[in-house]
Amino acid sequence: MIDLKHYEVWFVTGSQNLYGPETLEQVTFHSQTIASALDDVKAIPVKIVYKPLVTTPEEIYNLALEANSAKNCIGLILWMHTFSPAKMWIGGLQVLQKPFVHLHTQFNRDIPWAEIDMDFMNLNQSAHGDREFGFICSRMRFERKVIVGHWQDENVLARLGTWTRAACGWHDAQTARFARFGDNMREVAVTDGDKVNAQMRLGYSVNGYGVGDLVRYVNEVSDSEIDRLVRDYDEQYVVAAELRSGGDRHPSLRDGARIEMGMRHFLEDGNFQGFTTTFEDLHGLTQLPGLSPQRLMAEGYGFAGEGDWKTMALVRAMKVMSAGLPGGTSFMEDYTYHLNPDGMKVLGAHMLEVCPSIAAGKPSLEIHPLSIGGKDDPVRLVFDSKTGPAVNASIVEMGNRLRMVVNAVDTVGPDAPLPKLPVGRAVWAPQPDLKTAAAAWIYAGGAHHTCFSLDLTAEHLEDFATIANMEFLLIDKATTISGIRKELRWNDLYYHLAQGL
Ligand code: MN
Repeated sequence: MIDLKHYEVWFVTGSQNLYGPETLEQVTFHSQTIASALDDVKAIPVKIVYKPLVTTPEEIYNLALEANSAKNCIGLILWMHTFSPAKMWIGGLQVLQKPFVHLHTQFNRDIPWAEIDMDFMNLNQSAHGDREFGFICSRMRFERKVIVGHWQDENVLARLGTWTRAACGWHDAQTARFARFGDNMREVAVTDGDKVNAQMRLGYSVNGYGVGDLVRYVNEVSDSEIDRLVRDYDEQYVVAAELRSGGDRHPSLRDGARIEMGMRHFLEDGNFQGFTTTFEDLHGLTQLPGLSPQRLMAEGYGFAGEGDWKTMALVRAMKVMSAGLPGGTSFMEDYTYHLNPDGMKVLGAHMLEVCPSIAAGKPSLEIHPLSIGGKDDPVRLVFDSKTGPAVNASIVEMGNRLRMVVNAVDTVGPDAPLPKLPVGRAVWAPQPDLKTAAAAWIYAGGAHHTCFSLDLTAEHLEDFATIANMEFLLIDKATTISGIRKELRWNDLYYHLAQGL
């Protein structure tokens, strides 16, 4: 399971030596107070670490180098309590490799109308100090998040928490290793792409393995390991009678357990954070892996089917970003529509591999035929998802850049039970409505595969895209077709000009 508690965000306050030591002592005290309060906030899943004031170009530069090499530091919160002349920041910001968020706050919430004097004015200057810092960030063309408000304001804390989760996802991606069993589903366009470009821009590395390499691990799994997994299944799921010990399909359940354990050993040995499979390359496996990707996703591994490594890496990033939250996050595909004018919606699912973290109740473990892959019937978990607000996210390659497309949706559940549909699934109404959302998605070139999350919001994904310097397109209540078509055209021009070669 993914644990974000060992990650650190450094709380850094900028100032200068103009004000004299007494003022700087007060600035230090205020900064320590805020950092310590943020560290106690439940909505912020990482440690907030106070760092001594920076007041000179050398201190800022050295702090940036220290942050770059600190393994657990995933980013910085920057705040200019007083005025921190921003030419001092150029050198440090040029070498800083960790993301930062600009917190535009001040120590006092209210102006003390009756007491305010020039000493107070000398100390509490972030209203203009942060603007000087904002200028240099904009002048240097830094994409970043700016959060405005008092440091005890719930909305400010929630937005800081959101950003720290995005920064965790980014940090994980920088060293992530992903395995592909087999290549892409043949002739599919959107799931293919440039893995060198992805590694340069997003950090993670993706490499292919012959399915035989996996089969060797699968064949080495011991009977006692399989026994242990089967007991685990009995505890966690409603296991179909035919799959239980003594049932006539029990050997298929043991095959599924063997594949799961072999995959787990392979992934652990190679220190991988995610993987893809493809039904076109299963030599030596008895079933298309269904239950195993479901369970490995629930443990935090990235996964996508049909060799779709970009979606798999996004699933992993969103698993990291949502760690510890109760809703669930899964590989997903817009599968089929309900086009009834009384309430249009999407049924999302996949052939097998939907993560049970989104399940509303205890999933049932079943076996059914599968029309693709040409293998034995695969075992799989079947469930309806929880309901509530969610997002679908996709990353596609536009040739000269990566584009993230996000649709905010309301997960509503099916109108009636689905007794004959043997897969995990979610039913949602896209924002602003199905017709607009699907048209906007198609104009944007969003993939048919997505990562679906009941834990994350569009803001988490926008923060991630900002850190990654990636195009971000949001389809939500405010979206219109003419609006998004203009945005797409303008973005084409912007990225062509801004990125050059
Ligand atoms: Mn698919």
